[in-house]
Amino acid sequence: MYEVLEEKGKSSLILPGEYGYELRRMVWNNSIDKKPACISVCESEEDVVQAVKFAKRNGLDISIRSGGHHVAGFGVCDGGLMIDLSNMRKVTIDENRQVALVDGGARAGDVDKETQKFGLAVPLGTVSKVGVGGLALSGGIGYLRGKYGLTCDNIIAARVVTNDGDILDVNEVSHSDLLWAIRGGGGNFGVVTRFEFALHKVGPKVFTLDVMYDYKDAKKILEKFNAFVLNATDDAIAINLIITVLPPAAFLPESLHMKKVIMVTGVYTGDIEDGEEAFKPLQQLATPIIDQSMVMPFTQVQNKLDKMIQEYVNVYGTSLYFQELTEEVTDAILSKIDSAPVPSVLFQLWALGGEMNRVASDATAFAIRDAKYALLVDTMAMPGEDEMCELWTDSVYNRLLPYSHKRASYLNGIGQGEGLARLAYQENYNRLVQVKKRYDSDNKFRHNHNITPD
Ligand SMILES: Cc1cc2nc3c(=O)[nH]c(=O)nc-3n(C[C@H](O)[C@H](O)[C@H](O)COP(=O)(O)OP(=O)(O)OC[C@H]3O[C@@H](n4cnc5c(N)ncnc54)[C@H](O)[C@@H]3O)c2cc1C
Repeated sequence: MYEVLEEKGKSSLILPGEYGYELRRMVWNNSIDKKPACISVCESEEDVVQAVKFAKRNGLDISIRSGGHHVAGFGVCDGGLMIDLSNMRKVTIDENRQVALVDGGARAGDVDKETQKFGLAVPLGTVSKVGVGGLALSGGIGYLRGKYGLTCDNIIAARVVTNDGDILDVNEVSHSDLLWAIRGGGGNFGVVTRFEFALHKVGPKVFTLDVMYDYKDAKKILEKFNAFVLNATDDAIAINLIITVLPPAAFLPESLHMKKVIMVTGVYTGDIEDGEEAFKPLQQLATPIIDQSMVMPFTQVQNKLDKMIQEYVNVYGTSLYFQELTEEVTDAILSKIDSAPVPSVLFQLWALGGEMNRVASDATAFAIRDAKYALLVDTMAMPGEDEMCELWTDSVYNRLLPYSHKRASYLNGIGQGEGLARLAYQENYNRLVQVKKRYDSDNKFRHNHNITPD
């Protein structure tokens, strides 16, 4: 511990008991209560280099926290060094090259704010506070997936600090094996201090779908939704179906408090008029309770779900991919929803396809390129409900596993679990192990869906 104190003068290390320690070790999932030996609050790439070298000298594990939103709480670890990137959020747009330079701790909203000034966008997720770091490194499924692919498909270069504290320029010609690996392989290989993303023309206004239906029509809605997805164009593969019980929140009319509903949300990524036409079937899946579909600025779409998201609650999350919503799958999903032990469950079905599925399964580390749906389930537990919620979330996984596509999960949406990385990376797993051996042979970066060097 003396060395920690000595080093403290040189960088912004925070120790247990010191100001900021309790706040900085908190992550979005409040059920995670891990206590790092120290936290390094990095302001620059040089700070990251010093932090990594410090961890190496002191034999400490490293966890990397960007937006802190992973449901498994990978950003924080017990007894190791937490590298906190949350102050590194700079975003610069190079209009000539049509690229965005994004610091490793930026949030999705930071990027959208800057890119939309130029009528451009990086494909990101649908909640503005989520960190770009975790999102991009393990996939990134947002409204632009059908037209422009996953976030990880749009990483064209990066600066990576390795476990020796070396800074690598990673691109198609330099360390191209690492570029391949960070396009989906998570935070396994080093700290990404800066991403370079391809930019695309989007907005500034888009047609957005936002229809709410009564859960009583669930079966019919899922059937029709599936029929739409199977024939959807790239511009329309930007739709999510969400089943939840609405909270008694002030922004909702009282008549909707605690009502079980199905929401169908999306963005048409082509012309506005075409979107109004194309999404009509999704506005008529049953009799809507509310239909707020409208034209709105893309930046507003990207913030729209924020108010639905609770911060610092205990959450248990699971995920699986599917090929089709057959009657068997639909019945299994609905039977699990009907048996939920608490109302605060979020069942999301994201339609997949278009550009994200045109990428060959071995072209990037992200291997699942032929699924039609990603299912993500989050169960929010109130005090005293944790064990019950965790068990039930596991039971959703086990019940749906036999129907899933390749038994694989979207790693950004599932808690820690044995063998999940291998299933998600499929044939790419062995190649990822080789890259891991080259860049992190002693597995310093293990607080993630881990690819073990052995
Ligand atoms: C409210 C909410 C909404 C979401 N919406 C979407 C969505 O629309 N689409 C989608 O695809 N996913 C979505 N997700 C899932 C999200 O992609 C993951 O939670 C993601 O890991 C969050 O990234 P983060 O940087 O905030 O998380 P963190 O917990 O900070 O990091 C997650 C992992 O990534 C690693 N990591 C992060 N940054 C770096 C870096 N710079 N260098 C190296 N490793 C790094 C960390 O070590 C850790 O292992 C959502 C999650 C939440 C909670």
